[in-house]
Amino acid sequence: MAPSEFDLISRFFSKPEVERTDVILGVGDDCALLRVPPGMELAVSIDTLAEAIHFPSGTDPESLGHKALAVNLSDLAAMGAKPVWATLALTLPRSDPSWLEAFSRGFYNLARRYQVQLVGGDTTRGPLNITVQVHGLVAPGRALRRDGARPGDLVAVTGPLGDAGLALLALQGKFGPAPLDQAMRRRLERPLPRVESGQALAGIARSAIDISDGLLADLGHIVEASGVGARLELERLPLSPGVAAYVKDRGDWSLPLAAGDDYELCFSIPSELRTEAEASALQAGCQLHWIGLIDKEPGIRCFSAEGQLSTALLRGYEHFRHS
Ligand code: ADP
Ligand code: MG
Repeated sequence: MAPSEFDLISRFFSKPEVERTDVILGVGDDCALLRVPPGMELAVSIDTLAEAIHFPSGTDPESLGHKALAVNLSDLAAMGAKPVWATLALTLPRSDPSWLEAFSRGFYNLARRYQVQLVGGDTTRGPLNITVQVHGLVAPGRALRRDGARPGDLVAVTGPLGDAGLALLALQGKFGPAPLDQAMRRRLERPLPRVESGQALAGIARSAIDISDGLLADLGHIVEASGVGARLELERLPLSPGVAAYVKDRGDWSLPLAAGDDYELCFSIPSELRTEAEASALQAGCQLHWIGLIDKEPGIRCFSAEGQLSTALLRGYEHFRHS
């Protein structure tokens, strides 16, 4: 007989993998009880991964466990918050212990790395759907919001853009040599959120966002919320050799500008804090790449050696665009 909801919860989600002293009561009661340290602000975010929308059917469950938490930690990183707790709502088509074993391994391996404790959730039957909520702490006034960019700020990103998009094209058989390079595949299936870099730049950067829907779309949110614009120097974008070759062969910048799922961070930083920002990011294990400038003219303009690039057709992923 397949295990019941309660068997699954106690077997896979009540494990003391991470035990934080600020958790008064974790999995097992009607609510978790959590202690927010006095004087700190609580940052909360939630994200869903739905089968066939966010990942192809048959994606390996260990990667899903990792990614469901990673995309949420990336949102906390983009606020400069320190991750502390998570909840998990799982809708599963069947009670399959080997699937859950692998899923929870992926989830807990990442949770342990950042000492994030799973404190509750919900388990139901239905089409595969994974929703994670995360909770983080940030000192008052230090959170990195989208509306803080000012003309004259420099625009920086934390790492290569377009890798996840290239991996997806390769998996779909639309580009490149098969089999897909393992490192590229990991960029799509096991993204590492820039948790340390986000915290390191809180108090230095004026605004931040994580690049989940493509650089133009996500930087677009910053410039819109801040009432400013930006210009980007495309030759300065950090690109892996695979993405650089794609751009060069096809004369097409869509991967680094509009493909999603990279989970790098994009900051606007006052120009006089450039050196300080670089040093703090390096201490957090990451090199900043300076790719452009915030200005007053609304929108984002992209320049390459060939001049200004028309970006009218390059937009990030939007779920309801065609409905
Ligand atoms: P209730 O009916 O009161 O909502 P549940 O039976 O859904 O409680 O869950 C029992 C306990 O197990 C609760 O503490 C809940 O937070 C936890 N829980 C349920 N599913 C999960 C899950 N997928 N991950 C973590 N905790 C879970
Ligand atoms: Mg319930």
